[in-house]
Amino acid sequence: MATVSTDRPLLGAIEAGGTKFVLATGTADGVIVSRHTIPTADPVSTMAAASDWFDAQPAIAALGIASFGPVELDRRAPLWGHILETPKPGWSNCDLAGHFMSDLGVPVGFDTDVNGAALGEFHLGAGRGTSGMAYVTVGTGIGGGVIVNGQIVHGAGHPEMGHIYPRRAADDHEFAGACPFHGDCLEGLSSGPAILSRWGKTLSDLPAEHEAHCRVAGYLAQLCHTLFASLAVERVILGGGVMKTPGLLARIQEATMNAGANYLPGRSRQSVVMPKLGENAGITGAFLLAEEARSI
Ligand code: ZN
Repeated sequence: MATVSTDRPLLGAIEAGGTKFVLATGTADGVIVSRHTIPTADPVSTMAAASDWFDAQPAIAALGIASFGPVELDRRAPLWGHILETPKPGWSNCDLAGHFMSDLGVPVGFDTDVNGAALGEFHLGAGRGTSGMAYVTVGTGIGGGVIVNGQIVHGAGHPEMGHIYPRRAADDHEFAGACPFHGDCLEGLSSGPAILSRWGKTLSDLPAEHEAHCRVAGYLAQLCHTLFASLAVERVILGGGVMKTPGLLARIQEATMNAGANYLPGRSRQSVVMPKLGENAGITGAFLLAEEARSI
């Protein structure tokens, strides 16, 4: 059992995913006191099960939710805290934040799952000490969050950097891409399902000399280069299942350097790294969202 520091209030955290909800209590310094996972079923029963679990814990001062999307993040918008139009049955227009605000009676902080993970890595993980960083997960999809000057970048919606169009390699035009919206956007070329549909195996299961490794690394490197070039972030943190492929990070690091061609200012401060918080990035970020919500 973790020890709770007495000067930090107990906070609640939810990492709301498409297949599971991770629930936790802990503190803003990332200490997890208790943790529980429930499967994502329909919204009514999932949210009721989450409320029941929090009711059985010591009282929390605020709750942070890092949720699958798309979500409304503008606190002034009528649908703030809602999940928007989603193919996931029953979840469109679900008032996730509102449910817990009224059910638990505490302030609620709300953001996307990747922004939550970005916040966690920025304050307590691989992004510590930087002025700006991006966290990108490469798995079932490709999603990312950006922090500049200590703030999560929000705007018209939230960034969807997995859907940029990379420049295709000159000898790589046969595969049409797997994104249902864009075909050969980055996610359509380099996500787990895209790799599987193109080569019939996961990247980890393809031998090191297989062309898939260089192709995928090259396209992901274009995103890293784009983030350095457009946002001047110092660090790009790459997580998610595909990044567990042995050797992939090193290939991306080299391809990113080649893409930059020794041109970008501040390049000695730029790096592409793996997350430090691992599976806890999202839930840690949700504690930080809860801490922010206490002062809203
Ligand atoms: Zn796309």
